[in-house]
Amino acid sequence: MSTLAEQRTSGPSAAVKKVAVVGGGTMGNGIAQVFATSGLDVELIDVKPEFVDRGLATIAKNLDRVAKKQEWPADKAAGIVGRIHGSTSLDAAKGCQLVIEAVTESWDLKKQIFTTLDAACPAGTILASNTSSISITEIAAVTKRPGLVIGMHFMNPVPVMQLVEVIRGLATTDETYAFTEDLSKRLGKTPVEVNDYPGFVANRILMPMINEACYTLMEGVATKEAIDTVMKLGMNHPMGPLALADLIGLDTCLSIMNVLHEGLGDSKYRPCPLLRKMVAAGWLGRKSGRGFYEYAQG
Ligand code: NAD
Repeated sequence: MSTLAEQRTSGPSAAVKKVAVVGGGTMGNGIAQVFATSGLDVELIDVKPEFVDRGLATIAKNLDRVAKKQEWPADKAAGIVGRIHGSTSLDAAKGCQLVIEAVTESWDLKKQIFTTLDAACPAGTILASNTSSISITEIAAVTKRPGLVIGMHFMNPVPVMQLVEVIRGLATTDETYAFTEDLSKRLGKTPVEVNDYPGFVANRILMPMINEACYTLMEGVATKEAIDTVMKLGMNHPMGPLALADLIGLDTCLSIMNVLHEGLGDSKYRPCPLLRKMVAAGWLGRKSGRGFYEYAQG
């Protein structure tokens, strides 16, 4: 398959050569991997060198697996990793035409990052957020370039999942949207246009289902295994809602339910008390070794 660099001859995103990804965790390292695999240079930025190294090591491990499965030539995976440069300073984003923020889901943190990026990056740089639930309009409003701010909501695991929800804030320009849609296609993804309302589309629909599965468990309607089996075999979902909640992270699920509840003001979005209790206990799912199910660590 030819790379993005080879194919890049026309289209609104044709001039892009280098992007920055801020946050090298679950989503950030996946996003960096997808861009580098498509032939772009990537600056992967996190707060500490060990977090950057962890992100780079995860990418190398994932690419190694793909290389074996798809029988890639010996140097292909190393070439992709070689396009990703790690950094601990947002200054590394200065030379990039697009920055994708994928830091922890916290309004205060995103506000600080976007204010800093807006001051550091040239006036034409597009600033995208991978947020699951924070308002793109509010993020854009902390910058002096609200027309160039957009949501680029990748799904987990990024290299595998086809969808990018492209979220237009109130001020996002048509040019910024066209650029992001074009770039998403060049990554081999399918972009879908969505307006900025709490939870966008994906989490507006998915999270209430997961929350309802928590209520179903809490009320003793069925065991966790039974709930997941009903949704897998009865609805043809690839995994049950409780196992999916463990994959996403229960803290993330809770924070999205809080955004839906506050943003839409309807009691049908109230987070399940069992979900709150599990987060309070530190049972966050796969990442902490225990959620609805237990996981071997390491
Ligand atoms: P994560 O906890 O795995 O990673 C977050 C990373 O951000 C960490 O490596 C952390 O060190 C880094 N970070 C924190 N502060 C930073 C700073 N000031 N500068 C640079 N890096 C910083 O979280 P995640 O699951 O990758 O989520 C990231 C974003 O993606 C969130 O907004 C989340 O809502 C969104 N998202 C998550 C999923 C999912 O399934 N996990 C899916 C779609 C979108």
